[in-house]
Amino acid sequence: MQVTGNGKQYIIVGAGQAGGWAARTLRERGFAGRIVLVGQEDHPPYERPPLSKEVLVSGKDPAGTYLLTTEKLREFDIDVRRSTAIAIVRSGREILLQRGEEIPYDRLLLATGARPRTLSIPGADLKGIHYLRTIEDSLRIRQSLGAANHLLVVGGGWIGLEVAAAAIALGVPVTLVEAGDQLCGRSLPKPTAAFFQELHTGRGVDVRLNAKLVTFEGNGTVERALFADGQSVQTAIVVVGVGVEPNVELAVGCGLSVDNGIVVDETTRTSDPAIFAAGDVASHPVDRVGLRHRLETWHNAQNQGIVAAKAMLDEDARYREMPWFWSDQFDLNFQMLGIPGRSDDIYVKGDCGTGRFVQYFVAGERINAVAAFNSPRELREAKRMMLSNSPLDISALTSMAKVQ
Ligand code: NAP
Repeated sequence: MQVTGNGKQYIIVGAGQAGGWAARTLRERGFAGRIVLVGQEDHPPYERPPLSKEVLVSGKDPAGTYLLTTEKLREFDIDVRRSTAIAIVRSGREILLQRGEEIPYDRLLLATGARPRTLSIPGADLKGIHYLRTIEDSLRIRQSLGAANHLLVVGGGWIGLEVAAAAIALGVPVTLVEAGDQLCGRSLPKPTAAFFQELHTGRGVDVRLNAKLVTFEGNGTVERALFADGQSVQTAIVVVGVGVEPNVELAVGCGLSVDNGIVVDETTRTSDPAIFAAGDVASHPVDRVGLRHRLETWHNAQNQGIVAAKAMLDEDARYREMPWFWSDQFDLNFQMLGIPGRSDDIYVKGDCGTGRFVQYFVAGERINAVAAFNSPRELREAKRMMLSNSPLDISALTSMAKVQ
């Protein structure tokens, strides 16, 4: 391993998954300079996927999600600052921390992530209304579910569905309300989302689409939610998962190019060559799709963080990963590879009734994306086909029926 960067100072703002992997990669690839990792949370960098799954259902110790322990941070000689970065002075190459410190940098990585969107309707500040992003959020929800006789989930996205599945596993009845006319409207085409609706309804979740929530009522603590159509739901605990907003304020404040996320090229460089961005906050070109995307996934945070570290070391690293995410709900393992196009044809292999099937999203002869329901092997096969860029021979897929 070549030792490099002696006397240099690299700062990473954001001690989550992308920031943690970047710090680790810098050291593992021989960076001998100083690494400062600035984070707001009182934990080493950790992974979030278990927070809406195992931590809720089985009470798994969230410390098991740390991707760098305190010992490892010490071993890697990573200088962790528990504070908030409030400004970047590009002319002087330094960042300002809320606690009054100014830290110079040679290179800077912004891995500031995203924060939950919040509701601003009357009663939204009542006790018993939760959002899920951090370890503390997950532990609070877990504790509340233990004593709850009903859960209202607001938002039929990934947080909403995973929390609903966890609550059902704990024996808590669930009503899930979604503003749109399908679940997971941002990430799934309708036929894919329809399967999730059937899955949840079949397990007893009261799923309500096109639900316009207008008010929460309660005496200090939430007691009921009122909807525009006059319906109401009695509940003592609410989990809201209505999407996230990228933490772009630092980038905007110092004049970096921002467009639904910090604009980066495939090397993760921003419009300032000394500043990089990775993870939920970065808007990057997606190779196969030819468009710019800001991906909010575990896989993206980790691998883009690694590419950013390599790029900071002037290695020829490019982020060209195929978008991928998974979700575990009830006994379903769902995986999605690629990004389906709006007008893709959808072909199904397998029997939806068994819960084990694959959907292929196809434009012409090309597979844009694959959704695998309890079918990890088929997903791996499809990935090989997509990477080889071989045109899809629809006629050879005899077991598939076109559904859209
Ligand atoms: P999300 O997946 O974007 O879903 C939010 C859902 O809430 C959308 O369907 C949205 O509908 C709906 N919504 C918005 N405003 C609403 C309102 N006032 N009332 C009812 N529904 C409303 O976001 P999320 O579930 O909050 O998750 C946060 C982030 O964590 C996302 O990036 C998600 O991908 C990530 N995450 C990923 C996983 C995983 O990969 N397994 C698990 C958990 C979380 P519209 O689309 O119509 O606005």
